[in-house]
Amino acid sequence: MQIAFIGLGNMGGPMAINLIKAGHSVKAFDLSQEAVAKVAAEGGQAAASAQDAVQGAEAIITMLPASQHVEGLFLGRDGQAGLLTSIAKGALIIDSSTIAAATSQKVAKAAEAAGIAFIDAPVSGGTGGAIAGTLTFMVGGSSANLERARPLLEKMGANIFHAGDVGAGQTAKICNNMLLGILMVGTSEAIALGVANGLDPKVLSEIMRRSSGGNWALEKYNPYPGVHENAPASKGYAGGFGTDLMLKDLGLAQENATAVKASTPLGGLARSIYAAHSIAGHGGEDFSSIIKMLQKQG
Ligand code: NAD
Repeated sequence: MQIAFIGLGNMGGPMAINLIKAGHSVKAFDLSQEAVAKVAAEGGQAAASAQDAVQGAEAIITMLPASQHVEGLFLGRDGQAGLLTSIAKGALIIDSSTIAAATSQKVAKAAEAAGIAFIDAPVSGGTGGAIAGTLTFMVGGSSANLERARPLLEKMGANIFHAGDVGAGQTAKICNNMLLGILMVGTSEAIALGVANGLDPKVLSEIMRRSSGGNWALEKYNPYPGVHENAPASKGYAGGFGTDLMLKDLGLAQENATAVKASTPLGGLARSIYAAHSIAGHGGEDFSSIIKMLQKQG
């Protein structure tokens, strides 16, 4: 199948490479030429523009930072036409970015009017899951469109859930990430407390992992450097899932909570904590660097 893949960052790059390894023809585009070159080196075709990438594509996959990028790309911005005018009728858009459910619904409606199918399919599993092809997809859209996408999603992920209509995948994703943001702060607090008392972070992490405090951060993504060799914490908090992306997701969760009058006190507090961390200059670091805010310095 001819696929256009747009947005080849920490997640999109490895996802596109998995599709190439599975034998698909992938035309890849990113604003960063370096990101395009990495995918081209694995057998992808380098597109000169997003318009170029979608020529002849039966499926278009996007993995962009936030709502404004997805809306601008497909619907247009600054007087420039959006990509919907360049995509062939009958093609399928799979947007895996984490964005507002309302934006997914807006783009889906415009796509449908142009004869193009759309699903939101945000993911969980981190960059490790993207590389290993074991992501969890949370899909919003019709069953028919999910079945069209399934053979591609299976090459990039291990779990595929149908959350509901368009936008429902995004709602599931922000619920998950609100919990993840809270868990990472809590895990960091507990490790920092133990270390301040002279405990070995590796030993303490293993005790908690096998006890009632066990969670995904303690399993795979420890915020303390040196506990998990492949976690961003052991690589100077480079790569991974940026603090500013977590801040965006916690903001989406709070906007949603306001809209439905839900009470999310810990989600709100977590958003404030990541906002302060971002303002302190850590926005580009992996979100597990939140532990720096909670550690005894010097
Ligand atoms: P990233 O910043 O590493 O990559 C985003 C890429 O999009 C960049 O390479 C950027 O150049 C490109 N881009 C931006 N605007 C573009 C445009 N108009 N046209 C083409 N390319 C454009 O981000 P990421 O970590 O890969 O995350 C992407 C999305 O996935 C976000 O919505 C994020 O919240 C979500 N997500 C990330 C993780 C993670 O662990 N990193 C996990 C799950 C979900």
